[in-house]
Amino acid sequence: MGSSFFTHLECGNTCGAGPFDPRERHFLCPACGLPLLARYDLKAARSWTKDSLAGREPSMWRYREMLPLLPGDDPVTLGEGFTPLLHARRLGGTLGLDRLFIKDESLNPTNSFKARGQSAAITRARGLGATTIALPTAGNAGNAAAAYSAAAGLKCEVFIPRDAKQPFVDECRLYGANVTLVDGLITDAGKMAAEKGKPLGWYDVSTLKEPYRVEGKKTMGYELAEQFGWTLPDWIIYPTGGGTGLVGMWKAFEELDAIGWLDGKKRPKMVTVQAEGCAPIVRAFEQGTEKAAPWEHATTAADGLRVPRAIGDFLILRAIRESGGTALAVSDRQMIDDMLAIGSHEGVSAAPEGGAALSAIRRLAGDGRIKKHETVVLFNTGGALKYLDVLRAT
Ligand SMILES: *Cc1c(COP(=O)(O)O)cnc(C)c1O
Repeated sequence: MGSSFFTHLECGNTCGAGPFDPRERHFLCPACGLPLLARYDLKAARSWTKDSLAGREPSMWRYREMLPLLPGDDPVTLGEGFTPLLHARRLGGTLGLDRLFIKDESLNPTNSFKARGQSAAITRARGLGATTIALPTAGNAGNAAAAYSAAAGLKCEVFIPRDAKQPFVDECRLYGANVTLVDGLITDAGKMAAEKGKPLGWYDVSTLKEPYRVEGKKTMGYELAEQFGWTLPDWIIYPTGGGTGLVGMWKAFEELDAIGWLDGKKRPKMVTVQAEGCAPIVRAFEQGTEKAAPWEHATTAADGLRVPRAIGDFLILRAIRESGGTALAVSDRQMIDDMLAIGSHEGVSAAPEGGAALSAIRRLAGDGRIKKHETVVLFNTGGALKYLDVLRAT
């Protein structure tokens, strides 16, 4: 493989530092401490054609020209991506929506869309000579990192809050990772991973502190465009923690526009959904600020949404605002009811995060903001199986 248009890294903030050489390890911007983003030769990429996708593997690596591969690299892959886009007619019917779709990310390796990010990140980590991967996680990112590390023949050190659900801890161990239970939240786990790992040279794949997970997750944007015949939906409803997927999809739409694959068609409105018990992005959106203050005493059954502070907050807020979207918080009660609504109407296994996306659609359709004929994509970011305790508790 090879033939990617990947050229360099640069600061994703207005500081604009760079270019940085991707043949060396880079994490946050050395000038301002904010995330770095991968850049491609978009002029050269205009020679790439949609026809070339025909017959390619049904995984996210079908878009390898716009993924961070260097000459000689082979992806670390378990078949992630190219997940079904289901027309949810029965569920849509209950909401008065003709064109509700579910992007079912639960069918990825390790049961969530975290697989996409880790496939890209661990591909680069291996290319850069890493021997040990480390990360803090609420659960799914750790499972994916453990699996892709195993596939790449690397060691994996996972730092997870002590109160995380047991299946997440067990699955890390299944893939041979070493698990450290941390008192506190994912932010505390992140501090511990960095302190322990720095002197040992561990390669830290924390969300957006490492520039390649977002590249894997952006493929959700490429896929939506391809699956909708190179048009985009009116609305994307995305349960947001660290925000990598939302930031990634917005980046994907910019890239697709730049290489001429979207004919200047209108971009979707991006909607962030968070839990009432942890909604820093929603609060910042409502207050009109550029960054989000940390959320105190974060609690929610949706582990992926229990992120009190996101380093990419300004990128999330920028994408929501540029798109004309919005941000809203839903209760745990409602999101668990909506896991069941997705399951019972569509036969799809939804994590509480996926349930939360439905709760948001319910409200936006009820308020008349989403119209009957509009095309809406609900991101079911993970499956229900690791969260079944929340169903039993109801
Ligand atoms: C991590 C996670 C999220 C949040 O994703 P971000 O891209 O970090 O915002 C949502 N849902 C599930 C199931 C997750 O595992």
